[in-house]
Amino acid sequence: VWITLEGGDGSGKTTQSNLLAEWLVAAGRTVVRTREPGGSEVGQLIRDIVLHHRGDIAPRAEALLYAADRAHHVATVVRPALERGDVVLQDRYLDSSVAYQGAGRVLDAKEIRDLSLWAAEGALPDLTVLLDLDPAAARTRLDSADKPFDRLEAEQEEFHGRVRDAYLALADAEPDRFLVLDAAASPESIVERIRARVGELLG
Ligand code: C5P
Ligand code: MG
Repeated sequence: VWITLEGGDGSGKTTQSNLLAEWLVAAGRTVVRTREPGGSEVGQLIRDIVLHHRGDIAPRAEALLYAADRAHHVATVVRPALERGDVVLQDRYLDSSVAYQGAGRVLDAKEIRDLSLWAAEGALPDLTVLLDLDPAAARTRLDSADKPFDRLEAEQEEFHGRVRDAYLALADAEPDRFLVLDAAASPESIVERIRARVGELLG
């Protein structure tokens, strides 16, 4: 079973991933926790470029870097884990690319999605949890968090507004794959809803 977590910066993906992983492990599941960008060794190098390069990266080059990270990650980490029967719990996947490289950078959403699907040989998760949060609320959370900003977290609120709208449109287009939750709710109430859905998937 493959679960991806999506949402803007500051929406609480890490918190939810921690809570869900604890529950899955307690239920006796083998859980592989991973992320994009940076879920493989090659991916770590790519993550360093896309997050820490000083100066602009041409939007299409950036999209291809994310796609390269994804191709290697799916081939060497995700697929093998799924074939072993592990639960893969993944922070960000192709919906992030459609939202950030597509809507954020104003590339064509369908082209970005097609590029990602090509990179991943069509692999799609069983469940995608979208933690939906107003960008202003996310900004407040990030400002109070005691960690340095990534290059992209410093983008303007307008950028994050486009990202949010793109996520919601993706969820509308694939209601069976997506579970959309209000990220302003308490972490415990959010994870309860996720557990209910994951419980059904695990049977
Ligand atoms: O989720 P995480 O904090 O690891 O993401 C790092 C940064 O990369 C975030 O600021 C996010 O906005 C950005 N990102 C992106 N496009 C993606 C994935 C992440 O711009 N496809
Ligand atoms: Mg972040």
